[in-house]
Amino acid sequence: MKVNVNQEACIGCGACVAIAEDLFEINENGLSQAKVAEVPEDKKDQANEAVESCPTGAIAAE
Ligand code: SF4
Repeated sequence: MKVNVNQEACIGCGACVAIAEDLFEINENGLSQAKVAEVPEDKKDQANEAVESCPTGAIAAE
C-alpha cells in the first residue's frame, strides 16, 4: 500500500499528520506529503483513516 498527497488539493490542515504522524509530514510549502514509500502493514488502518478524514480528498491510497 502506498499513499500519495495531491499537492494541488491539500490545504495543509494537518489532520492526516495528527492521525498518522509516521506516514505524513508537513513539507516546506506547508502542505502534507507522504513520509514512506510503502505503508507498513500495521499502519494501514491509520492510512485509511487519514484518507477518509482529509477534508479535500487530497490523499490517494493504492
Ligand atoms: S488531511 Fe488532507 S488537506 Fe489536511 S494536511 Fe492532510 S492531505 Fe492536506
